[in-house]
Amino acid sequence: MAKARCPRCGQGPLFTGGLALREKCSSCGLDYSAIDTGDGPAVFVILILGAIVTGGALWLELRFQPPTWVHLIIWLPLILGGSIYMLRRIKTALIHQQYRKLGW
Ligand SMILES: [Zn+2]
Repeated sequence: MAKARCPRCGQGPLFTGGLALREKCSSCGLDYSAIDTGDGPAVFVILILGAIVTGGALWLELRFQPPTWVHLIIWLPLILGGSIYMLRRIKTALIHQQYRKLGW
């Protein structure tokens, strides 16, 4: 899977640190303003992570019937951390696809 780097030179970082894109590549100057992944990354995260968490929570509840706090300490960090991690990875993949297929 592609690193969160510029799709043209592979050097400059795509993100400012979180999920926000930089204005341009700090290495080759590629303008990132043409990037438009829309809601694509969020859809994949909702479908994939939602299925994992829902399935896991159902299995845990039906198998062990733990108290609610057990669900909270397992699923809340997984949802938060997993969402940010997956959003960055999927957004990067879609940006690289857009650059390869359409350029800008
Ligand atoms: Zn670059």
